[in-house]
Amino acid sequence: MTTKKTLQINLKTIPETGLAVGIDLGPEWFARWHEEDPGLEFAGARITGNVHLSKHGYDILVRGSLSGQLELACGRCLEPFSAPAAIDFDLLLVPGPVHATAAAKEELSPDDLDLDYYTGEIVDLESLLREQIILMLPLKPLCDEACKGLCFHCGANLKSETCTCPTDVVNSPFAQLAKLKI
Ligand SMILES: [Zn+2]
Ligand SMILES: [Zn+2]
Repeated sequence: MTTKKTLQINLKTIPETGLAVGIDLGPEWFARWHEEDPGLEFAGARITGNVHLSKHGYDILVRGSLSGQLELACGRCLEPFSAPAAIDFDLLLVPGPVHATAAAKEELSPDDLDLDYYTGEIVDLESLLREQIILMLPLKPLCDEACKGLCFHCGANLKSETCTCPTDVVNSPFAQLAKLKI
């Protein structure tokens, strides 16, 4: 497994007319991300799109669009499913404080979210794309809006099977939901 980071753009390679970068992120790219960040809340994805970088004085404007399929786990029944996702973004990168850290970035207010830093001569497109993909993730992934989830008592997946647990004595959100469907 390669650990080489790709998508590091040297500012000198961006011509006055801007630089278009085709994006095609497959299993290998996501596998490396998972290695570096085992807490990722999705299994994998296939994301394609394009990014355009242009220089405006010392600032770098990054515009892009991404779309594809995300491999997610349902928040109710825990089953894997894939969901389409897409995002468009405009980011302005300004020359950052030399010691800008991730912690410092998080202190930015929401109004500043489309503003980011770069340091040195390199735009770390890899990190930018990871941030955008995180933004693509649904807050509550559901394989189906009507997914009934797992039985609170026996763990049966109520989407594909029924169980004999008495729903009237089970005081759980799942049971309440199951009742609505009967
Ligand atoms: Zn589900
Ligand atoms: Zn049950």
